[in-house]
Amino acid sequence: TVAAPTWAARLRDIADFPKPGILFKDIMPLLADGDDFRAAIAAMCARWRGQRLDAVVGIESRGFILGAAMAHELGIGFVPVRKPGKLPGKVLREEYTLEYRSDCIEMHADALPAGARVAVIDDVLATGGTLVAALALVRRLGVDVVGAGVLVELDGLGGRGRWEAGLPLHAELVY
Ligand code: 5GP
Repeated sequence: TVAAPTWAARLRDIADFPKPGILFKDIMPLLADGDDFRAAIAAMCARWRGQRLDAVVGIESRGFILGAAMAHELGIGFVPVRKPGKLPGKVLREEYTLEYRSDCIEMHADALPAGARVAVIDDVLATGGTLVAALALVRRLGVDVVGAGVLVELDGLGGRGRWEAGLPLHAELVY
């Protein structure tokens, strides 16, 4: 095991959010600190250095914040996976079940050229429903998903077990 990075202290637990019984990992204090936000993004980017990536795919909403910062740092494009009804163009839709509700996600049908190499980014892996749905959605574009990255993996909710065996899934912190 390695020591937790200093920025890990910026994450906090909020009980009973968004509903009773859920212990929510809040990343906002980390984002609010310039040095620690930068360090966290650097750690997430380091996973992909030396690999050819054409774009970062970020999942709404906190995956936008982390994913866009990563894309900027890596000098590549950013493509959003959004909640339904938000994207103006022709979309592909994927339905899935979350830890605390069922939902669906959408992506522009022409967001990426077939064969593009992407990493899918979100803030937290819980049950894995969101990330697995995003993987399926992105692949429907004929895109090559090189792997996924999250800031935090909540162990014990089964997320990693639902992820495709052999496909990289990087987590900076595991709780
Ligand atoms: P999953 O689909 O893996 O069950 O849940 C992951 C999705 O829900 C992610 O998009 C993530 O933003 C959100 N989520 C679930 N639990 C938490 C949490 O404790 N903290 C944060 N920040 N997001 C969470």
